[in-house]
Amino acid sequence: MTVRVRIAPSPTGDPHVGTAYIALFNLIFARHFKGTFILRIEDTDQSRSRPEYEKNIFNALRWTGIEWDEGPDVGGPYGPYRQSERTEIYQKYAYELLEKGKAYKCFATAEELAEMREVAAAEGRRAGYDRRYRNLSPAEVKEREEKGQPFVIRLKVPLTGDCVYDDAIKGRITSPWADIDDQVLLKSDGFPTYHLANVVDDYLMKITHVIRGDEWMSSTPKHILLYESFGWTAPTFMHMPLLLGKDGKKLSKRKNPTSIFYFRDSGFLPEALLNFLTLMGYSMPDDKEIYSLEEIIETFDPKRIGISGAFFDIQKLHWVNQKKIIETIPEDQLWNRLVDWQFNEEFMRRLMPLAHTRIKTFGDFMQLCSFFFINDLPITPELLCPKNTPPELISFLIQSIIWSLDEQEDWSGAALEKASHEVADLFAIHHKKVMIPVLFACVMGKLQGPPLFNSVTLLGKDRTRVRLMNAIQALGGISNKKMDQLKKGWDKRDVKHLLADQG
Ligand code: GLU
Repeated sequence: MTVRVRIAPSPTGDPHVGTAYIALFNLIFARHFKGTFILRIEDTDQSRSRPEYEKNIFNALRWTGIEWDEGPDVGGPYGPYRQSERTEIYQKYAYELLEKGKAYKCFATAEELAEMREVAAAEGRRAGYDRRYRNLSPAEVKEREEKGQPFVIRLKVPLTGDCVYDDAIKGRITSPWADIDDQVLLKSDGFPTYHLANVVDDYLMKITHVIRGDEWMSSTPKHILLYESFGWTAPTFMHMPLLLGKDGKKLSKRKNPTSIFYFRDSGFLPEALLNFLTLMGYSMPDDKEIYSLEEIIETFDPKRIGISGAFFDIQKLHWVNQKKIIETIPEDQLWNRLVDWQFNEEFMRRLMPLAHTRIKTFGDFMQLCSFFFINDLPITPELLCPKNTPPELISFLIQSIIWSLDEQEDWSGAALEKASHEVADLFAIHHKKVMIPVLFACVMGKLQGPPLFNSVTLLGKDRTRVRLMNAIQALGGISNKKMDQLKKGWDKRDVKHLLADQG
C-alpha cells in the first residue's frame, strides 16, 4: 500500500499554528513511509472562505518549510484540490446515497428546526433533529418537490447500537449512534457539508490515513457511516492530541498568539517552530528535545505519538528557538538572518517616513522605533490607564477594538482609526485624551512615538493583535463572564449597563 495523507484546511481565518502542527505530522508520516502528502482546500463554507486566507495558508506553511506533493497550487493527478471546484461530484454522490436508501430528502423549515432544538434541549437530548422526514413515502416527497419546497439531503444514522472503530493513536473508540443526528450531507443550495465533501474527497484522492486533530473525533462516526453506506473501505483514523492554551482549553486566538505569521514576525525560526510543534505531539527516544526535521522523519514511530492534549508553552518555544539559533546559525551568519527577518531594505524604507522628522540625531532612531523590533513591551497598568481611568474599562475598550477590527476584517491603521472612534463613542470616552494614549501604550509601550496608525500598518495585524491582548492581560484580564456580557453589549452596541458597574 502506498501511503497517501492529507491536510484539509478551511480558508476561513489567519493561518493557525494548529494547521502547521497537523500538516507537520502528516508530512513526517508521508516522508517516513515514502508516501504522498496532499493539501486540499475545504472551502465549502461559502460565507466564511476567502481567497486571501487560502493564499496565507500556502505562504505560512511554506515559511515553516512544509511542502506538499499535490495541492491546488501544485496540481496532481486527483484534482481539483479545492472543494468549491468539485460541487458536482458531491451532488452525484449524495444522490447515489438517496438511490441506495441510505439518505433522504428533508423538508424541515428553519422554524421547524428551531422548535425541534428547543424540545430536544428541554428533554436533555444531544441530538436535536427528530427525523420527521425520514420515512416520507415517495408520493409525499414528490408532492413537496412539485410544490417547490426546498430540501436538504440527510444521512440515515442508525437509531440504536454503537459506532466502534480503532483509532491508530487513541485505540478503540465506541460512541452511541443515539447521540448523533441524521446529518445533512447536501444543503438546499446544492453545496455539500463538511462531512460529505471530506469523505468523498478522501475516497477519491485515495487517502490511506486521516491524521487530524482530536477535535474532529465527534465527526468520525459520521464519516465511518458514510464509508459504509457507499460500500467503501474507510481509511485509518489517527487523532492527534490537541494544542491547549494555559487554561487547558483548545488554543484559541482569543487568548493566545495563534497565527503562524505572528511567530514569523516576532523573529522565531521556522525550524524552531516545527521542532517545538513536534514536541507537542510526540516524544523522541531518550526524551531528546532538539532535533532536525530529517531526524524525526528518519526515526518516526507512530506509537510515540501522545494521547492527551499538549500545552502550547510559549516559554518552551523560546527555549527551543534559542537552542536552534545557537546550533544552526553560525555567528557570522547571524546578521544575515536578522536582515532577512526585519533589518532589511524593504522594511527600513517603509519605516523611514515615520522617523524622518522625529529624530534629532541618528542615535534617537532606536529609541523612537524600538517597538518594531522587540517582543516584550514595557507595559504597566499605570501606562495603560490615562487619567486614572479604571483598568477594567480600559480592558473593555481594548477588547472592543479587537472585535471592531475583526468585524472590519481589516487590521490596517485606517481600520484602527475607524475602530478607535467607534469604540470611544460607544463608551463615551474622550478619543484624543483617553483612546489614543491607550492605543499608543498597547502598541508601542509608551505614550508618544511615530504616528500611531501608520505604525500599526507597518507592525502588521498579527503582532498588533497580540499586543492588544497582552495589554488586556497586563490589566488583569477579563473574566469569561464579563467577556460574555461585554460581547453581548458590543454586538448590540449598547454597553451602558457595563459602564454602570464602573461607578
Ligand atoms: N476542513 C477541516 C479543517 O478545517 C478538515 C478536518 C479533517 O482533517 O477532516 O481542519
